[in-house]
Amino acid sequence: MNLIDAIYTRQSVDRVDSISVESQVEFCKREVIGEDIKVYTDKGYSGKNTDRPAFQEMMADITAGKIRRVIVYRLDRISRSVLDFASVIDVFQKHGVDFVSTMEKFDTGTPIGKAMLMIVMIFAQLERETIQQRVIDAYSSRSKRGFYMGGKVPYGFRLKETVIDGIRTKMYEPVLEETAVIEQIFSKYAQPQTSFGDIVRWLDERQVKKRNGEPFSRSRIRDLVVNPVYVRADYRLYEFYKAQGTIIENRPEDFIGTNGAYLYSGNEGKRKTVSLQGHTLVLAPHEGLIPSDIWIKCRSKCLSNTRLAKPIKAKATWLAGKVKCAHCGYALSAKVYHCKTKADNRYYLCNNKYNTGGCNFGSLDADLVDEIVFEEMRKKLAEFNTLTKQKQESCDLQTIKLKTRIEVIDQEIGSLLDKIPLANGAVMEYINNRVAVLDAEKKELYAEIVRLTEGKGYSLEKITGYLDNWEEISMGDKLTVVDSLIENIYASQEKIKINWKI
Ligand SMILES: [Zn+2]
Repeated sequence: MNLIDAIYTRQSVDRVDSISVESQVEFCKREVIGEDIKVYTDKGYSGKNTDRPAFQEMMADITAGKIRRVIVYRLDRISRSVLDFASVIDVFQKHGVDFVSTMEKFDTGTPIGKAMLMIVMIFAQLERETIQQRVIDAYSSRSKRGFYMGGKVPYGFRLKETVIDGIRTKMYEPVLEETAVIEQIFSKYAQPQTSFGDIVRWLDERQVKKRNGEPFSRSRIRDLVVNPVYVRADYRLYEFYKAQGTIIENRPEDFIGTNGAYLYSGNEGKRKTVSLQGHTLVLAPHEGLIPSDIWIKCRSKCLSNTRLAKPIKAKATWLAGKVKCAHCGYALSAKVYHCKTKADNRYYLCNNKYNTGGCNFGSLDADLVDEIVFEEMRKKLAEFNTLTKQKQESCDLQTIKLKTRIEVIDQEIGSLLDKIPLANGAVMEYINNRVAVLDAEKKELYAEIVRLTEGKGYSLEKITGYLDNWEEISMGDKLTVVDSLIENIYASQEKIKINWKI
């Protein structure tokens, strides 16, 4: 197969001054050397990023080793961002692709072209480091926590040495080819109709593999999509996690929309009380990749997505103490039978079985019972969530009203304080009294907001999140989830009756 000369053209809708795609192609054709040409055209796309279909197709062809040179009419056809441009050029160089721009007489096949390219790259590097410095500043001036804690480095990043607050530690830095994949995964999953399966197929078709060379699985994609290491954490993200009951180490004003975040599950180390709110969010020193609105869209979709539900194969029983014998009312206990030829079998047996004149309950396949109960919990919650959704929306509206009132109060306090320098005794007294009244009202408003946001609806949302992550959460959390939903369960060979708390 001959290597092709790629002509890339782009024209945005809104720019009247940009030259037509056809003329761009004409200009570029003068630079073509070989016989084989392929023209890639993005019509109606701006150069603010590289998220354009034809451009991505060309990059895929480059990665596949089909292209020898890329020709454009002008440099800005590639991207208006120096950083984007530099990363694109980086990929070109890795695959031995020469780059020609007709207007700037820029040809990386020539020595002067190479030199110019280096200058571009140096500026890009400078810009990158400046951004990085800003990110670290925002991080370290406000947070003493969140140093790299070890563990698997997520796809899209690698580790690099760094010094924060005088302490040597490690932080993530992006791996270009991988971050492009991450961005695609998020933008695709943010579309309502896209499933994890769709994304797996899409990646398969493009031969995109994990680092170990294996294909991505649906659960792997899910892990990616829920990891806040990728988000650009801003105030919306703060509120999102706050609503989930997550402990947040940084103050709301630290969420400036640049840094990624680490989420630590509360189950590490010793844990005295079992809590659904055991997760901690900490801003990370690296720059996030995904805008918070897209990230939250994906995360919320996961929270309500039940299609990924896997059959439950719990080792120990998370229904401990909840299942009772439908015949005699005694508790059922799980017993494990070790079997050499196949997987262990778990059975529920009636505790009354061996008493004199005891129960003749027999036994029940425990995995099956657990699975049925798990599915019932999901159904129950789905029902309940629809019912509480409306309630929640009216709560949200009330919260906004209260917050608006607080703002008005703050303004009034502000203008009162402004008057202090000119105030005489009587006015001073008025100001003092008025500020005290306003302060008291403010306190009440805050208390009201807390009451509203910590209402029932949110904790149910949290539980739904736990059900979605059933395989990963601790036994303690499972027990808490079950206990908050289920009073008890009466089981026999014929049927299972669940008595709900909700
Ligand atoms: Zn019994």
